[in-house]
Amino acid sequence: MYRDDSWIPEALPKAESAADMGLCDHCLGRLFGKMGTGLTNDERGAMLRLALGGIPAHSEPCRLCEDIFDIVPRLAEAAAEAILTVESENFLIGTRVDPLIADRESKIWDELGKDQAEPIKSELNREIGKHALPLINRRVEFTNPQVVALVDTRFANVELDISPVFIYGRYCKLSREIPQTIWPCRSCRGKGCARCHGTGKMYSTSVQEVIGDPARRMADATEHFFHGMGREDIDALMLGDGRPFVLELRSPRIRDIDLDQLEAEVNRSELAQVSKLRFSSKDEVRWVKDASPSKTYRAQVRAEGKVNKERVNEVAKSFKNLHIDQRTPVRVAHRRGDLVRRREILSVEAEVLGDDVFLLVLETESGTYVKEFVSGDEGRTKPSFSERLGVPCVVEALDVMSINDQ
Ligand SMILES: [Zn+2]
Ligand SMILES: [Zn+2]
Repeated sequence: MYRDDSWIPEALPKAESAADMGLCDHCLGRLFGKMGTGLTNDERGAMLRLALGGIPAHSEPCRLCEDIFDIVPRLAEAAAEAILTVESENFLIGTRVDPLIADRESKIWDELGKDQAEPIKSELNREIGKHALPLINRRVEFTNPQVVALVDTRFANVELDISPVFIYGRYCKLSREIPQTIWPCRSCRGKGCARCHGTGKMYSTSVQEVIGDPARRMADATEHFFHGMGREDIDALMLGDGRPFVLELRSPRIRDIDLDQLEAEVNRSELAQVSKLRFSSKDEVRWVKDASPSKTYRAQVRAEGKVNKERVNEVAKSFKNLHIDQRTPVRVAHRRGDLVRRREILSVEAEVLGDDVFLLVLETESGTYVKEFVSGDEGRTKPSFSERLGVPCVVEALDVMSINDQ
């Protein structure tokens, strides 16, 4: 069999200095890892030994790697075994090299130069991968692996890093008593205390948990994160076609879960419902979070006194494509900076239901505080519905009718 030996004359002087360092063929050859083609490092090492007049292979454990390459098959088996406990289409194996070995390698490089050398880490990655591949029978993926087995060469233990699964969908919230996401207890910040009855949460459940808990169980994942396209107030319903979201499942041992089954399971809940579930990606999380579509709301409004039907309709029409200025409401000042935001009211339609009760259906720019638009928030929103009507009004119930993202 032909072996590329054109590189040997150039390598010989340095190989001579390395020959008495007590290196194994792998470690000797790896010093010249970038020279010659189609060779493994131990082949390079053996060829150099021969060229140097047949200096004997080392007998002691290699003074660099302590003969770690002898246990490569065992490390590969451990990696394969770990990877096979997880469902994936592809994988990657990485190694955590003993710092002492890495240290010795860099000292040898200091002495002999590292221009042609390959680091031991990359040889170990490759050699373990080569042995593991037939045991695993999945594709090796370098840029976006679904599962990475990190082999610690010191203890021959394997740590798995499983990439998250993302699921896109739209949700409706049918309860005025649950938040969109898990809301940690204000007193204990999630640890569990008397105030939250040990749950660590302000609310017993959330849209996130209604959807995420069954999904986490199906995927055998460790935890879930919820990325919504904005959020509604706790006491607001989310109706119509629902609000887009991406659910992130961390460390799923099963990736290909049945989304129809998940949808059916979630939709047994009376608190939240989902539709249009499909697998998604991290990129879509960013897209969903950055989107700022207009929203259509239905607000049930109570006025402080009798209102005139024509006047209510007139005021509603007067806000068509009108800009309003909203200073941050006091109720959200703890999480948003106090400043004035200009928002557009796209349309308002009114329906008077009684002497002092009416419905408004409003389409507003993303980020509009609808309750404050109606009440005026003591002058912090200008102009407001109350101001133009000349009668103070408050929103009694608010529902999101649609997120206009299509
Ligand atoms: Zn060695
Ligand atoms: Zn608590």
